[in-house]
Amino acid sequence: MQNAIEISKLNKTYKAAGKKAEAKVALKDIDLNIPKGSIFGLLGPNGAGKSTTINILAGLVLKTSGGVKIWDLDIDEKPRNAKAAIGIVPQEINFDPFFTPRQLLDIQAGLYGVPKNERRTEELLKMVELADKGDSYSRALSGGMKRRLMVAKALAHSPPILVLDEPTAGVDVELRQMLWENVRRLNDEGVTIVLTTHYLEEAEELCDRIAIINHGEIVANEEKETLLARIDNKEIRFRLADEIVDVPNGLEKFNAAKEGRRTLVMRYSPQDQCVGEIIDILQKAKLEICDISTDESDLEDVFLQLTRAA
Ligand code: ADP
Ligand code: MG
Repeated sequence: MQNAIEISKLNKTYKAAGKKAEAKVALKDIDLNIPKGSIFGLLGPNGAGKSTTINILAGLVLKTSGGVKIWDLDIDEKPRNAKAAIGIVPQEINFDPFFTPRQLLDIQAGLYGVPKNERRTEELLKMVELADKGDSYSRALSGGMKRRLMVAKALAHSPPILVLDEPTAGVDVELRQMLWENVRRLNDEGVTIVLTTHYLEEAEELCDRIAIINHGEIVANEEKETLLARIDNKEIRFRLADEIVDVPNGLEKFNAAKEGRRTLVMRYSPQDQCVGEIIDILQKAKLEICDISTDESDLEDVFLQLTRAA
C-alpha cells in the first residue's frame, strides 16, 4: 500500500436548505492520493471545500458520489474499519464540556474498543501538555487547551492517520509552534498527517506535499518544492532618487511599470531571473536607487497564477 488515503471522483452537493435556497456544489470530481508517511497539506481559501473533504473522511458528511479509501478500506464497504484508521481534529471544538480531559480520552478510547491496559490517556495528556489539567472540567480550559485536547482525543485509538482541519486558525504563535512540533514528532513516529489550512506559509513550513483546492476543484497537487518553484514570483519596487521619465530599456522582461513619479515596480521569478540584472540596468541608465522592497506572492496570487495556467 502506497497511499494512506485515496479519493477518486469525489462529489458533494449540499441540498438546498429551504424552498428559496439553492443547492451548493462543494466538491467537483476530486481525485486525491495522500502518500503514506507524508505530511500532506490541503490548502485553499475559505469556502473552497476543505472541511467538506475532511468531514467526508470522518463520516460526518455523506458524499454525493465517488470513492474514498482510508488505509485501503473503502468507506462504503468497511465504514467502521476505515474510521478506526483515522483520527480527526475538526475545525470546530466538539466535546462534552462536563467531562474532564482524562475522562474524555478514556471514553474516546473506549468507543474504539481499546482495552483499558492499552489506553494512552496519560501519555497523550502529557504530549499536549495537559497533564496538570487532567481532572479539571473541560469547559474550564482555555481555547488553546481545548484545541490541544482535541488533538489528544483524535489520537486516543492510535490511528495511523491524523487529520487536522485548520489546526492553527485563530491560535496564538506559541500554540501554533507547539502544534507544529507535535505534528512533526508524530510524523517521525510514522503517522501520516493531513492538514488543511488557508495559510500558504503554514503549508510551506510543515508539509512535504501540497494540494490546492479552489471552488471545490483541485488546481494543483505536487511536492512542496515543485509547487513553490511554480509559484515562485516576486514583486520588487525600486524607489529612485529622481523622477523617472521613461522605463529604461531591458526591463521589459521584468514587466517594469512606473508607480508614481519615482518608483518602478517589477515582477520576476527568483528561480530563473536575477535581481542583479535589474540593478545593473538601473545603474547604466544613471538612475540612483534610494530604496528596494519586495513582496512574495500570497495565496491569492497563487490561485490566480494556477487557475490562469490551467
Ligand atoms: P472550507 O473548509 O474550505 O472553508 P467548506 O468545505 O466548509 O469550505 O465549504 C465548501 C462550500 O460548501 C462553501 O461554499 C460552504 O458554504 C458550503 N457548505 C459547507 N457546509 C454546508 C452545509 N452544511 N450546507 C450547505 N452548504 C454548505
Ligand atoms: Mg473549513
